[in-house]
Amino acid sequence: MLNDEQMQRYSRHILLPDVGLAGQERLRSASVLCIGAGGLGSPILMYLAAAGIGRIGIVDFDRVELTNLQRQVIHGTGDVGRLKTESAQEAVGRINPDVKVELYNTRIQSVNALDIIRPYDVVVDCTDNFPTRYLTNDTCVLLGKPNVYGSISHFEGQASVFAPHLGGPCYRCLFPEPPPPGSVPSCAEGGVLGVLPGLIGSIQATEILKLALGKGQPLIGRLLIVDALQMRFRELKLRRDPQCPLCGEKPSITKLIDYEQFCGLKPAVAAAPTNPDEVTVHDMKRALETPALGITVIDVREPNEHRMAHIEGVRLIPLSAFSCRFTELDPNQKLYIHCKSGARSLKAMQFLRNQGFKDVKSVRGGILAWSNEIDPPVAKY
Ligand code: ZN
Repeated sequence: MLNDEQMQRYSRHILLPDVGLAGQERLRSASVLCIGAGGLGSPILMYLAAAGIGRIGIVDFDRVELTNLQRQVIHGTGDVGRLKTESAQEAVGRINPDVKVELYNTRIQSVNALDIIRPYDVVVDCTDNFPTRYLTNDTCVLLGKPNVYGSISHFEGQASVFAPHLGGPCYRCLFPEPPPPGSVPSCAEGGVLGVLPGLIGSIQATEILKLALGKGQPLIGRLLIVDALQMRFRELKLRRDPQCPLCGEKPSITKLIDYEQFCGLKPAVAAAPTNPDEVTVHDMKRALETPALGITVIDVREPNEHRMAHIEGVRLIPLSAFSCRFTELDPNQKLYIHCKSGARSLKAMQFLRNQGFKDVKSVRGGILAWSNEIDPPVAKY
């Protein structure tokens, strides 16, 4: 039973006929696992705490960085350098000390996902990468847990509820194959409007509360697409795929797999040290210091990235302008190409080779590796 203080705290819920005392009790007995305490996790954790969800698990292994604060509103300036889980736990406690918080300061992986997810009623996907997204989906389907999905990029976001055990599709029904590595820019590569995770995260939090209350029409079988720039909400009907390897009629996936490999990340990483298409930032340094080598270094990032950080002596030709500006380069010239972390430079390299350029290499790790290994004052963004 709720005490007097809790009655007051939740009075605006209790007044709602669809919540009432019984509903508030349901929220208190509910448990939610939040995978990721970043942009989406921030509003979700704050609203779930305020709503009186009884037990909240938080999974994250990252520390708060200055670049997070533009959108990850659960963390403040004084939290930079702290574990995100601990910073988030403190914020949840400030909002509502009744909530029991459980922390997992670890990377969720195939070896621990079942154990981490099993003790919770609802899972909320606040991840920013494909291996963790597929891992979360597969674990939820195998355990029969609803998976409240959200994702964001630039000015656009999506949300849905995946729950094959309740009749809807899973993430794999929608996206059977992960995109090729590097083809979808992360928030760190492509940027994101700071308020967008607030918008999508609030939608996810709403779905969680509805699932816990057993009220309303959940986003099961529907993908909500939000275009913040035009402020348009669209909805796609999603069907469960009878051929889905996970939730279909004849599933071929019956246990967790290697998700890094599934998303094509492992071979690239494993091959990296010997990839003949790539050079290191030390090679780039030598090229810049030794004009006799005759190597021109090109930066293919965008001008606003260049303003945040750049390397002296490197020429900027943004990838977005590459298809018309590559003609400024001599096909017989030796070229090293760098970007932020090494994905776009591989694309630019391939493009130039297709145009008949003979000696082009991509700088592994980009300007981030340069900052880490050569020149730390170069800003990481
Ligand atoms: Zn499926």
